[in-house]
Parts: sequence; C-alpha cells; structure tokens
Amino acid sequence: MSESTLSFWIATTEDTNYPVLENDITVDVAIVGGGLAGIMSAYFLKNEGLKVALIDSGKIAKSTTGNTTAKITSQHSLIYQKIKKSMGDGLVKQYADANETAIKTISDVISKEKIECDFEWKDAFLYTQNENNINKIQKEVESATFAGIKADYLDQIPLPFTVLAAIRFTGQAQFHPRKFALAIAENLIKSGVQIFEGTRAMDIKEGSKCEITTDKGKSITADHVIIASHYPFYDGKGLYFSRMYPVRS
Ligand SMILES: Cc1cc2nc3c(=O)[nH]c(=O)nc-3n(C[C@H](O)[C@H](O)[C@H](O)COP(=O)(O)OP(=O)(O)OC[C@H]3O[C@@H](n4cnc5c(N)ncnc54)[C@H](O)[C@@H]3O)c2cc1C
Repeated sequence: MSESTLSFWIATTEDTNYPVLENDITVDVAIVGGGLAGIMSAYFLKNEGLKVALIDSGKIAKSTTGNTTAKITSQHSLIYQKIKKSMGDGLVKQYADANETAIKTISDVISKEKIECDFEWKDAFLYTQNENNINKIQKEVESATFAGIKADYLDQIPLPFTVLAAIRFTGQAQFHPRKFALAIAENLIKSGVQIFEGTRAMDIKEGSKCEITTDKGKSITADHVIIASHYPFYDGKGLYFSRMYPVRS
C-alpha cells in the first residue's frame, strides 16, 4: 500500500517475523488465521491447558484486524431495533450481553497481562443530521435499553457541528488493535503456542483427528480446528463463500 493509505495501526508497529511451518506437527487445537479472532482463541485455549498452533497465510494482525476502526463497542449502527424485530426479544438481549461481555473481557485481559495498547474508556455515539432518521434513533435507544445497554437519547453531542439526534452508549472503549494483538501473540509464544506465518491452509481432512494441509507441503494434525480466516476458505458445509461480497469503507 502507498503511505497515504497505510493503516495507522500498521504504520506505528513493527512487522512480525514468525517462521514458516517446516515440519508436520500434531496439536490439540489448530487455528487457521492470525487476526484478532484467531489470536484470542489461541489465548483462551492455551489458558485452558491445550496445546495450540496457529497459522497465517500472510502476517498476523495485518489483515482486517490491522485495518479496523479500533473501537471496542456494543454499538453497530441501528442493529438493536433490527435484531429485536427480526429475531425477537431473547436474541436481542443475548446479542447485547455478548457485546458487553466482550468489552469487559478485553479490558480484563489488558489489565491481567499489563498490555500497553492505548486502551481508553470512551462513550460511543451514533448521530443523524437528517430529520427523517430521528425516529430511527429514538427507536434504537428504546431497543438498546430494552436489551440491557446503557443508552441515552441526545440532541447535542461533542462535535463542532449541529446534529439533530444522537444515541450515546456509555462504558465503551478504543485501543490500538495491533499493539494489543501483537502483545497477545508474544504471550502465546512464551506459553508454548506455536505461530507460523507465510503458511496458507489449503484444505482440511475431517475425522476423529483433522489434518490441515498447507501450501508449504507440511501438515498439522489436530483434535480440533478453528477456522478464523475471516474469508471462509474451507467450505465443508454451508456454502459460506457464496454469500460473501466485497464492501469498501
Ligand atoms: C473497515 C473495517 C473496520 C472495522 N472496525 C472494527 C472496529 O472498530 N471494531 C471491531 O470490533 N470490529 C471492527 N471490524 C470488524 C473486524 O472484522 C473484526 O473486529 C476483526 O478485526 C476481524 O478479525 P478476524 O480475526 O476475524 O479477521 P482478520 O483480521 O482478517 O484475520 C484473518 C486472518 O486469516 C488469514 N487467512 C485467511 N485465509 C487463510 C488461510 N487459508 N490459511 C491461513 N491463514 C489465512 C489472513 O491472512 C488474516 O490474517 C471492522 C471491519 C472492517 C472491514
């Protein structure tokens, strides 16, 4: 990428240099993909005493994770009214609980592992300058509050321009996603987790033991495989690849 489009998170951290998989190995759990999903899965599993290996086709924490907005929030556009309407009261509460638990979990891991990653508690806002959206904002406050989120309706927020309506979620956060993910990766290595970069999973043979074949001609045998590749490269069931479409933001 040119410098003008390089993510701030990638530009302000060192590149990683984990080895390529050069031998066949056997572990309890093999993880395909070293973004935040794969790295955190490895962290929680090794804490349970499991033998874990993680592979990434490129470099860890450099794909979607290295290019995010860096917010750690329960707020994702007008999601609560949508889930409540389409999936019901129970699931919207479950969704809110999962999101709030994730924020707390990340904050707890940062404290426990003493990770310096510019973590800050922040309010999160969603606002409109279009009067046709005011009732959607009101509805979102109602739905989020119903789901158990601390959400307020406001007609002014700390921005240097006028808004018509806004929602504030308190108890949200932001951090430097790569400082966080790379610190967890170092923690993994110290705990005996194996990380391999430049190693692409090509296929998975499922069975009582699973075998991941890689583009390096070496394989990983594991009781369990976690696919954390963001893009569903392996499609035993579900035809997930056919539901993918590109989005730019
Ligand atoms: C523009 C944008 C902004 C976002 N902002 C936020 C935000 O602010 N907060 C938030 O919570 N979420 C945000 N998200 C959602 C984001 O997707 C997740 O938060 C998270 O970072 C995704 O992590 P991941 O591990 O699933 O994927 P990735 O970080 O993409 O990691 C997947 C990894 O798998 C590897 N891989 C792929 N195929 C293979 C293969 N066959 N073999 C081996 N390795 C493979 C890739 O190289 C990659 O490193 C944002 C998403 C986008 C697109």
